[in-house]
Amino acid sequence: MNLLERIDHWGTVSPDAIAHVSDDRSLTYGELCRRSDALALYLAERFGDDRGPIAALGHREPEMLIAFLGSVKSGRPYVPIDTVFPRQRIDKIVAISRAAMVLTPQETAQFSATEARAPANCLQRDDPFYILFTSGSTGEPKGVVISLACLEHFIAWMLAEQKFLEQGEIFLNQAPFSFDLSVMDLYCSLATGGTLFSISRDLVANPKALYRTLGSSNVTTWVSTPSFAQMCLVEEKFGEAMLPHVRRFLFCGETLAPQTAALLLERFPGAEVWNSYGPTEATVATTSVRIGRTILEKYSPLPVGRPMPGTEVFVMNERGEALPANKRGEIVIAGPNVSPGYLGRPDLTAAVFFQHGSQRAYRTGDLGRFHDKLLFFEGRIDEQIKLYGYRIELGDIEANLRALSLVRDAVVIPVIKNGAAQSLAAFVVLSKRGEESDFELSHTLRKQLGERLPNYMLPRKFVFLDAFPMTANGKADRARLAQSL
Ligand code: AMP
Repeated sequence: MNLLERIDHWGTVSPDAIAHVSDDRSLTYGELCRRSDALALYLAERFGDDRGPIAALGHREPEMLIAFLGSVKSGRPYVPIDTVFPRQRIDKIVAISRAAMVLTPQETAQFSATEARAPANCLQRDDPFYILFTSGSTGEPKGVVISLACLEHFIAWMLAEQKFLEQGEIFLNQAPFSFDLSVMDLYCSLATGGTLFSISRDLVANPKALYRTLGSSNVTTWVSTPSFAQMCLVEEKFGEAMLPHVRRFLFCGETLAPQTAALLLERFPGAEVWNSYGPTEATVATTSVRIGRTILEKYSPLPVGRPMPGTEVFVMNERGEALPANKRGEIVIAGPNVSPGYLGRPDLTAAVFFQHGSQRAYRTGDLGRFHDKLLFFEGRIDEQIKLYGYRIELGDIEANLRALSLVRDAVVIPVIKNGAAQSLAAFVVLSKRGEESDFELSHTLRKQLGERLPNYMLPRKFVFLDAFPMTANGKADRARLAQSL
């Protein structure tokens, strides 16, 4: 059975089981399968041989799941786009992906309302399943293509390692569907007949309602960024009494601090804590490790894990030579979970993807080393950062700032606290200075930038300079700018 057949199987044997809960709405497996079949047929009839991607634009609506499955059942990959993105960014993603159409939840509801069987067997293993857009250093988002084969390899590993109870799990969905961490909860849940429990943006902004909802969620498998768990831990009641059924915390996407893991083990004595690591380009996660007491006592920072079976992870130097244990270098991932590349960008693809023996390989741009057969993450080679779990190229923000008429040049720097980025600061050289105060200018720039970039990419602080300090080779001196914060 392939992944889609597995999901449909739950629609047949347990049509009334709940596949998704979001706010006050829910979706059964019967509906999910029936409606995604109907949507697939609609798409097949409307677009015929054109297998262009389908963009699914929304937030946590159950229709998002219908749109994802409907697209792939019709043989077309989907592009998940969260409504957190401003219009300009959405338009860019739709244009780059050459989406055949953009499906809103309302349209998905409308086009999936008929009774129909999906066109049979449309998706081959090497066909693209989804395309996820990440921040690109030049200001253009780049679309990572993930095939059914990549996804199945990842899910098979997760199921073997975590031994989820069939039809017995409720998965927390905290990450937006446009962030690949959500693929972990979404497909582990659908593959095992579980329930996906989504936390919407409004809930995260309202702590009281958030804890009340978490308390009534019966979540058994917690999947989130470490930042989100850290935020929850601020509430003292966040513990076993609030979430008595949690069996495991699965983390990925950014550094898991030892204090966060320790507090979770203390507050949830019956639960396991797992750290995992990987980029979108290698399908969510590639290494994992259970963080028990022994590991906590032995390592700080914590390891990010051991490679999944069938995939090779190694560390290499600038000359592309594999390095022995304990040596630091760039982390490379080679295996069936590695993406075919960036959509429509052979140049970007060739720069970081390559063939390693019979395996497709990806140079992550992450620094790390193996120690005791465990991988340790040690920062980035370039200017990509993680802010509250979101992957951001500082160059993306800078390019979008420079595109504003007020800005001649810009450098964006993360404000680091306790070893992690807490916010962003922009150093700006203006094209011309008027009468406005720095406060007014910051407000204007943030507003204009907010029309181009999502909120999480907006600098909190703006500093206006006549010119940037320079390094010896004439580049803006980021280190000096960072020191001045
Ligand atoms: P994304 O493509 O959004 O999943 O981001 C991938 C990047 O997040 C990786 O290349 C790392 O830089 C970072 N990352 C992922 N997992 C971890 C982890 N467990 N610890 C530290 N950094 C991580």
